Amino acid sequence: MAMIREVFKHLFKRPVTVKYPFEKTPIAERYRGKHEFYVDRCVGCGLCARECPALAIELVPSDKNVNGRIPVFYLDKCIFCGQCERICPRAAIRLTKFYELASPDRKTLVYSAG
Ligand code: SF4
Ligand code: SF4
Repeated sequence: MAMIREVFKHLFKRPVTVKYPFEKTPIAERYRGKHEFYVDRCVGCGLCARECPALAIELVPSDKNVNGRIPVFYLDKCIFCGQCERICPRAAIRLTKFYELASPDRKTLVYSAG
């Protein structure tokens, strides 16, 4: 009897789930998603790679700055802690709210400024 009462109680209530991906729930204000990297600001200091707890950043050779290197981000390893964004002295990294990163191919999760 208690179960039937419970069923009727919920029969006319709105569902608590949404039909993702057709509907999306609002994202928290401080949500940390995919990186945005501003290569023109980067000086190749390497602090982001040194501080990354997940070893998700590698410095690769580049002619974009005087130190001759820029970071590449491995989003399949990233834990989205935001440490690289915080430590960068040039504000060259910003974590966006983009979270739809699922992919069958890990190569698509390598993010670089080229
Ligand atoms: S967000 Fe954290 S885990 Fe991801 S690349 Fe930056 S420092 Fe590394
Ligand atoms: S910490 Fe900032 S300036 Fe230094 S290498 Fe990383 S992105 Fe470039």
